[in-house]
Parts: sequence; C-alpha cells; structure tokens
Amino acid sequence: MKPTHIEHIGIAVKSLKESIPFYEKVLGLECYSVEEIIDQKVKTAFFKIGQTKIELLESTDPEGPIGKFIEKKGEGIHHLAYAVEDVNEALKEVEAEGVRLIDKEGRKGAEGLNIGFLHPKSTLGVLTELCDNK
Ligand code: ZN
Repeated sequence: MKPTHIEHIGIAVKSLKESIPFYEKVLGLECYSVEEIIDQKVKTAFFKIGQTKIELLESTDPEGPIGKFIEKKGEGIHHLAYAVEDVNEALKEVEAEGVRLIDKEGRKGAEGLNIGFLHPKSTLGVLTELCDNK
C-alpha cells in the first residue's frame, strides 16, 4: 500500500453547532460541507487545510459508533484516514500482512468517497481508514 497523503482526520464532537465556531473563528478554517451519513448514525462537518481535511463527527444516536466512542472516551481524535489509489486493493494488501479489517471491501463514506476501516487492534491503537483519492 502506498498512501499519498492524509485524506482527513476524524474528530468526535458532542455538537457540531458548538464545535464549528471553534474551527472557523479560532483556527480560521472554513466549513465547506455538512452531511448526514444515516447508516453511520453521524452528522459530519468538513474543513479543508491544504490537501487534508478535518472531519468533525457528531452522533445522531447514542448507540451509534460515535455515540459509543464519546461515552467511553469523550470528545477527541477518532480516526486517521489515508488516501490510497484503490481502497479494495489496499484492503487486500494489508489483510495479506495480517491486519484485521473492519471492512472487507470498500463502501461509500462521506463526500462519496470509497472507504474502508482497519481494526485498531491491528493498527497500534489508531482506528485507520483508507479512502480512494480518485
Ligand atoms: Zn473518516
């Protein structure tokens, strides 16, 4: 696998409404998109910084993955996403290296990207996402 850059950093927040002003007013970034991903039970807000994005994640359901994360660990960095040329190929390559996968195949994530997650138990504790950079 040859990642080209950090596609985005996913940050779990309790409230987009309360978090967006920090990123806009204090950090000086511009929120260019807010999107709800219904099957992931999250609402996301995106900011661009160079080639990389910050993805804020607000849970829409306490039983969803972000709801559970915040209950256990509080707000903070949730995952790191690497841009790769082809998610399905990259998933196969890392699986062949013995990495446990959350997604055996790419699926549709925010911004229409093809994404796949690796299990944090196989990635030194960092929930790792791969995204097509197409
Ligand atoms: Zn992500």
